[in-house]
Amino acid sequence: MITPSAPLAAAGPGTLRRYRWPLMTAALAGLGVFGAVLVVPAIVRRRLSRRLAAVLLILAAAQGTGALVTVVMGMRAPICRPPTFSPPGQAAAYTTRQDTLWVSTRQALTAGPTGLALIYAQVRGADVCRFAPNGNLIARMDTGYARAGTMIGHLFLTYPKPDLTYEDLVPLTQHEARHADQWAVAGVLGGPMAFPAAYTADELLAPGAHNHFERHAGLTGGGYTVPDQPPRTLGRLAITLLALTFLRQAFRRLRRRTHRGK
Ligand SMILES: [Zn+2]
Repeated sequence: MITPSAPLAAAGPGTLRRYRWPLMTAALAGLGVFGAVLVVPAIVRRRLSRRLAAVLLILAAAQGTGALVTVVMGMRAPICRPPTFSPPGQAAAYTTRQDTLWVSTRQALTAGPTGLALIYAQVRGADVCRFAPNGNLIARMDTGYARAGTMIGHLFLTYPKPDLTYEDLVPLTQHEARHADQWAVAGVLGGPMAFPAAYTADELLAPGAHNHFERHAGLTGGGYTVPDQPPRTLGRLAITLLALTFLRQAFRRLRRRTHRGK
C-alpha cells in the first residue's frame, strides 16, 4: 500500500515521468527559481514525495487561478477617474497611461496574487479601477486592509480618497509601485508567498518605518515619519535566531524529502 508520503514513482511505472514537465512548471510557478532549484532534481530522479507534489500543485493552481482572474477582471477594470476638482493638466495626467515594458512585466509577474486579492476585494464590494500612470489596480473599500492600505501583487487595497489631486497622490503611488516591484522580484525568486513571508519577517525585526521594504519603497511617500532611532535590537535578535533555527530545520527537512522521497 502506498502511504501519503511515499515517492510518486512508487505510484506506478512512469507516473512521475509522465507528469515531469507539469511538476517542473508547478515548482517554478509555486516556489520560484530558488524553490525549483531545490525540487527539480527530485523530480528528475523520480524521488519526489506525494505530499510535496501536492503542495506544488496547490501553489501552482492558486497562481493560475489568480492570473486568470487578473486577465478576466483586472484587465477590464476602468481607468480611475480624476478627482472632481482637478486642474485640467493634472486630470489629464491622472488618466494617461504610461505603460512601459517593466510595467507590463510587473503585471504579468504579479498576476497570481493580484487576482486572488481581486477576488477578496470583489467579495467585500470594493470599487476597482486601474491607475493609468503606473498600471496598478486600486480597490477602494472601507475596511479589510492593514494601515492606510495594503499592496498585494499590483493591486492596492485602500479607502477612497476623493479629495486628493494627482499631485497629492504621486508620492503614494510611487511608494506602492515600488511595493509592486518587490512583489514581482520576490515572486520570481521564491514564488508568490516569498514577499509576504520576507516582509513579515522583516517587520518582526524592524517594524513600521524601520522595515527595509518600506524604506526601499520610500518612507515619506508611504506616510511614515522617518525615525531618528534604530529599532530595539535585543528582543529582535532573539526572534532572528529563532527564525533562523526554524528556517534551517525546514530547509533540512525539505532537502531530506526531496533527496530520499520521504
Ligand atoms: Zn509601504
